[in-house]
Amino acid sequence: MLDTRELYQQVILDHNRSPRNFRVIENPSSHAEGNNPLCGDKVAVDLTMSGGVITDVAFQGAGCAISTASASLMTEQIKGMSPQEALDLIDQFRGLVTGASDTMNVASLDVFSGVQNYPTRVKCATLAWHTLRAAIEGTTDTITTE
Ligand code: ZN
Repeated sequence: MLDTRELYQQVILDHNRSPRNFRVIENPSSHAEGNNPLCGDKVAVDLTMSGGVITDVAFQGAGCAISTASASLMTEQIKGMSPQEALDLIDQFRGLVTGASDTMNVASLDVFSGVQNYPTRVKCATLAWHTLRAAIEGTTDTITTE
């Protein structure tokens, strides 16, 4: 029987090895790029919106296992949400990984709760989410965690 920490590590390793929605969207409604110079993580997020809903979301980039797995799990959750629902989830996720809040309505994202014990990893975990926020809000500048 795996303990919870091992299970969480396995989920992160699996998403790092086989990232979901790792591709480019042709003619996306919105695109944003993010950088975490502290670790060298880079991510670009494309999304398509239609009828007030995020109908497709994808990412590209290179980075550590935490940043890649976080982006991968994020894309799985965001599809089908309204922009406001996505922004709410971004806030929840930031609260989870910083330890500021334990409200997390999406169970599969709990795998990142351990990140709050590793402050240097918080930027890795949140990079894709900051970038998603920029894409939703239409910010054109590259986001940096610094
Ligand atoms: Zn990283």
